[in-house]
Amino acid sequence: MNAEPYRIKMVEPIALIPRQAREQALRNAGYNPFSLRSEDVYIDLLTDSGTGAMSDRQWAAMMMGDEAYAGSRSFYKIKDAVRDIFGYEYTIPTHQGRGAEQVLFPHLIRQKGQFVLGNMHFDTTMAHIDLNGGIPVNLVIDEAFDTQLEHPFKGNFNLEKLQSFIDTHGRAAIAFILITITCNSAGGQPVSMQNMKAVKSIADRYDIPVLFDAARYAENAYFIHQREPGYEDKSILEIVRETFSLGKAFTMSAKKDAIVNIGGLIGIKDEVGLYQAASASCVPLEGYVTYGGLSGRDMEALAVGLYEGLAEDYLQSRIGQVEYLGNELRERGIPIQWPVGGHAVFVDAKKFLPHIPPQQFPAQALCNELYLESGIRAVEIGSLLLGRDPNTGEQRPAGAEFMRLTIPRRVYTNRHMDVVVEALSKIWDRRDSIKGLEFTYEPEVLRHFLCRLQPIQVR
Ligand SMILES: *Cc1c(COP(=O)(O)O)cnc(C)c1O
Repeated sequence: MNAEPYRIKMVEPIALIPRQAREQALRNAGYNPFSLRSEDVYIDLLTDSGTGAMSDRQWAAMMMGDEAYAGSRSFYKIKDAVRDIFGYEYTIPTHQGRGAEQVLFPHLIRQKGQFVLGNMHFDTTMAHIDLNGGIPVNLVIDEAFDTQLEHPFKGNFNLEKLQSFIDTHGRAAIAFILITITCNSAGGQPVSMQNMKAVKSIADRYDIPVLFDAARYAENAYFIHQREPGYEDKSILEIVRETFSLGKAFTMSAKKDAIVNIGGLIGIKDEVGLYQAASASCVPLEGYVTYGGLSGRDMEALAVGLYEGLAEDYLQSRIGQVEYLGNELRERGIPIQWPVGGHAVFVDAKKFLPHIPPQQFPAQALCNELYLESGIRAVEIGSLLLGRDPNTGEQRPAGAEFMRLTIPRRVYTNRHMDVVVEALSKIWDRRDSIKGLEFTYEPEVLRHFLCRLQPIQVR
């Protein structure tokens, strides 16, 4: 048995405010945990993005930041790390993942209406495809939507669907293929090497570029190491190199596996033309190409974090913690997406609260109940997030109603996870008494961030 491969050198106090204060805070927040003050949250499982704990080495590296506007030494550390880890010659730093998408995508979507084929696109990625006139298409395997089905790589592409999409629409209609690792929107589910290689060989037949959305490059490699025959004896770094040899470029949110609080990257394997075009866009959108929206000290922490994310003992403890939480919940009969993914446990609110219909947002009701019970903040991934059809104004039907318990990296201990388990067990026992929600204020776009709700009164 192994414990965490680190000890704690600095602590940030957190506290559980009294039940009455939580009730008040949630009322003030319009029954929307996004509007809570983080001070009123005890254990914050809203996201794993930018919420990780940096190491002493990262903090020490920050003191070495070179704040030169052009040609910063800190930039070259990132460039060297990207060349070494991913095998890509060109690097452009950006302020976060969406910055990378904004800079790169206009140079890949050449005509309005071109398709971008993915396993399952992340929401900002989808937005940047839309903004550039492209059409995002999700081709993940059907198993991804069956929460109770055991499958080692639920983030895989459905290869038949990919092939038949290309056959139907033709090469010219397709801008590029984007492999998202791990597949965040399917629950942090991994993609196998075999599947990625098959995607690449289909793409090669038609000369379609393959790119990566690489936020969780290391967690995906760890799953391959654990689950895919032939990779037991390969190191995480070797698996990452093999993965990225299949692509021609990547965009990355460094706020995930690279364990920094802010940052993103574009990596381009060898195409100087694409690098030059992206560089020209980077300057007005993000900043000069050797800082791209980051300070020198941010880049120092990122260059170190890219390597720390690859450490096998760290990944074992990180993903082990997510598995621990998932196993404990499952043992108590609480329905979750299974097997758990790399960065979160997804609780199936459709099964947890079958008496609450989708238009009353069961997963949001569960998030609120969890906050009231123990000051824990989770996030709804379901009908509230999905919103209305812009043309008809009807609520779009969500494939799943999830409450996501997202685990920040190196931040909480398994005792914190035990608090989550205990709270959810108590709610499980009184689940029939939980009520759905209705709007008191519904913004037109991205409503889940700012909407206000109230529990539906018994009429
Ligand atoms: C977080 C994330 C992004 C966007 O990155 P930001 O740093 O939040 O802008 C893109 N794709 C995936 C898969 C992500 O997880």
